[in-house]
Amino acid sequence: MSTAQVTRLNVMKPWLGADEVAAVTEVIESGWVAQGPKVAAFERAFAETMQAGDAVAVSNCTTALHLALVVAGIGPGDDVVVPSFSFIATSNAPTYVGARPVFADVDAATGNVTAGTLAAALTPATRAVIIVDQGGVPVELGPIRALCDPKGIVVIEDAACGAGSSYDGRPVGAGAELATWSFHPRKILTTGEGGMLTTSNPEWAARARRLREHSMSVSAADRHASLVSPAEEYGEIGFNYRMTDLQAAVGLVQLGKLAEVVERRRANAARYRELLSGVPGIRLVDDPAWGTSNFQSLWLEVAPEYPLDREALLLALAEAGISARRGIMAAHRQPAYADRDTGGAPLPITEQLTDRTLILPLFHQLTGEELERVARVIREAGER
Ligand SMILES: *Cc1c(COP(=O)(O)O)cnc(C)c1O
Repeated sequence: MSTAQVTRLNVMKPWLGADEVAAVTEVIESGWVAQGPKVAAFERAFAETMQAGDAVAVSNCTTALHLALVVAGIGPGDDVVVPSFSFIATSNAPTYVGARPVFADVDAATGNVTAGTLAAALTPATRAVIIVDQGGVPVELGPIRALCDPKGIVVIEDAACGAGSSYDGRPVGAGAELATWSFHPRKILTTGEGGMLTTSNPEWAARARRLREHSMSVSAADRHASLVSPAEEYGEIGFNYRMTDLQAAVGLVQLGKLAEVVERRRANAARYRELLSGVPGIRLVDDPAWGTSNFQSLWLEVAPEYPLDREALLLALAEAGISARRGIMAAHRQPAYADRDTGGAPLPITEQLTDRTLILPLFHQLTGEELERVARVIREAGER
């Protein structure tokens, strides 16, 4: 068998083209490349698409999470309950404000925290929770708000992977007081790097807008607009978490393609499901009852009924030129958290999913033939 002749398949490939090139060219030719009119336009378009009150563009989703915690008033002495089963940024953000991340387990079907797993992890010092639309699967927000709102616990939705997913007939994040988004190429929309904070609270939006720009009272764009610029004032200690107009121009084009991208991803996820149905011990993540996923990470669980374990299946795929990826990480197992007090609740489902899952190649340009090749390897490896 000659694997050199088959094209290598990766988990993700951004879908960028001539429209993005033209948009960036226009910004370069305008002479204004930093945060300016394109960022403002991207924020308006994003807020409208996501049915959010306000959108504040930032440098990435990690900085969006940081700002979300700052505007929610979270600080030293506070606990923030988060899933360990998430990219590490979710648990790092509370540490940036001096709070303690406390890990909650997840549900086996969705990979998401639930009102039940959060309730088991709440402490008297819990002032916020960060819930994740993991891999694009919408988190069940309603019962979580019902648990947290009466206790005055702020619910922050980490929708880094969630653009184009829906909960209860609306875009994910629309029902949250604060939601954060990523435009890293591994996610559904990309601006190279980039992020967004959306919120239903106009005061939080205004403060986040200042904080991302050193808490300057006059933005650089406004200062530039007048010949004699007004004197600026720095109200509190802020950050440089700005997005550039170059990125926002790309983001506007990408946002326009979102519906098409999600439709194709969902069709391809359905095709994988069809081709892999009936393979013993293989389970693909699916839509929950309360919404639809964009399948940002189409993961499958390799159960003991399958003849290979997850590592052996990854190798079988690699031999066929397919670079699948291990599933979502578990932060509590990383050296960065091993010696910290993170609540100590048992996390059996987190450990099961992080040990047994892998993520299938799924991107806009994936051909039917390529998809069938991946499914065939999994099917045949299961019959060896
Ligand atoms: C990717 C990701 C992030 C971090 O996003 P960046 O834009 O790279 O900072 C945060 N949370 C989750 C759940 C993610 O998947």
